[in-house]
Amino acid sequence: MSLLVQKFGGTSVGSLDRIRHVAEKIIETRQNGHDVVVVVSAMSGETNRLVGLVESLVDNPDPREYSVLVSTGEMVSMSLLAMCLSAQGFPARSYTGAQAQIFTENKCVKARIERIEPHPLKQALQEGIIPIVAGFQGVDSYGNITTLGRGGSDTTAVALAASLGADECQIYTDVDGVYTADPRVVPEARQLTHITFEEMLELASLGAKVLQKRSVELIGKYKVPLRVLSSFHDGPGTLITYEEVAMERPLVSGIAFNRSEAKLSIIGVPDQPGVAAKILGPIGQGNIDVDMIVQNKINDDLTDLSFTVGREDYQKAVVILEQVAKTLGAKGISSDAKIAKISLVGVGMRSHSGVAQKMFEVLGDAGINIQLIATSEIKISVIVDEKYLELGVRALHAAFGLDKEANEEFDPKM
Ligand code: ADP
Ligand code: ASP
Ligand code: MG
Repeated sequence: MSLLVQKFGGTSVGSLDRIRHVAEKIIETRQNGHDVVVVVSAMSGETNRLVGLVESLVDNPDPREYSVLVSTGEMVSMSLLAMCLSAQGFPARSYTGAQAQIFTENKCVKARIERIEPHPLKQALQEGIIPIVAGFQGVDSYGNITTLGRGGSDTTAVALAASLGADECQIYTDVDGVYTADPRVVPEARQLTHITFEEMLELASLGAKVLQKRSVELIGKYKVPLRVLSSFHDGPGTLITYEEVAMERPLVSGIAFNRSEAKLSIIGVPDQPGVAAKILGPIGQGNIDVDMIVQNKINDDLTDLSFTVGREDYQKAVVILEQVAKTLGAKGISSDAKIAKISLVGVGMRSHSGVAQKMFEVLGDAGINIQLIATSEIKISVIVDEKYLELGVRALHAAFGLDKEANEEFDPKM
């Protein structure tokens, strides 16, 4: 008998009707002869509601209490689903992260899973009981409830699939699979039948929230077979693959975007060895992660340096950079929270040049100014004014022929 881990996201369990529908799908899986371990998210909007309560109450919440509160959403959906299944003659039992023995590092928020003790879930399966596990939560070595970062139920599902040796991890969500771009922003976006693990990792890191980045890192580590599927329509979904068939690869497989960053620049800094470290060191010490960095030498004596940080750290970063500018005798700083990052991703870029050139031309023709650029082997990212995000993503999607099946025909010199 094969074993599947099936994860249902927030919209998929967003109402009692939808929970009934999920129960039907699980029953169908059982009737098709598979064992199944289920992971659920909170009902849609619930985690945001809980985070909103905290934010309205205090500025710097205690991480332990924060996780106790925001983990409750998953417990509502897991028990509702378990009751619904049991009432239909398919005995099911809900498990919190601690009951499922999902052990994380000793850090209450954005904790990483360290180990899973699969015995309780295996025992349930042996007894013919369907385990329904709360996503997004675990327990630390002191017994505290921990949470895995927003979107963390995907990571729960992958970690369970790896530890149980499941035949497939199925992520059921509100779209039919992974698309060439977020179908909510690009109506012409096309569903992909498969995507390489490397491309999925880039897309997830660069803002496509269909899978949490950490879940993709984990499937790579354990080579978990993973498929993204719709909980509303039947279909093959999108399979993550580990082998790339070079001949068949398009230049660009997908476009991701992110509007949760902010840009800061320090201008006219006296240039000398070690200056970048003197600027970015205090930012790092403030526990702020820096994403893109561009240093631009103006003349023999002066340099500018720009970088991006998460928007939640913006105010804090501005205060630190003002202080740094004074200490280093810089001319000043400038900052902008209303920026967006647009990224093209594709393993085909490795063997073809000209993608960046074409990207810059398309954005230029659309009247969109590029503020920063970063490239790696299989991606190109640009920072633009946030108001041009949709326009830029749609123009690039069309120009690279992502709405068409055969975009590998694209000639970058055209
Ligand atoms: P769930 O609640 O099921 O975890 P999420 O909202 O976290 O669902 O992720 C699904 C959403 O991801 C979709 O509704 C879609 O708007 C968004 N998304 C962003 N980029 C992509 C993409 N390339 N392909 C598919 N969906 C995407
Ligand atoms: N409910 C959590 C969130 O909204 C976890 C998840 O849905 O994956 O982030
Ligand atoms: Mg999600």
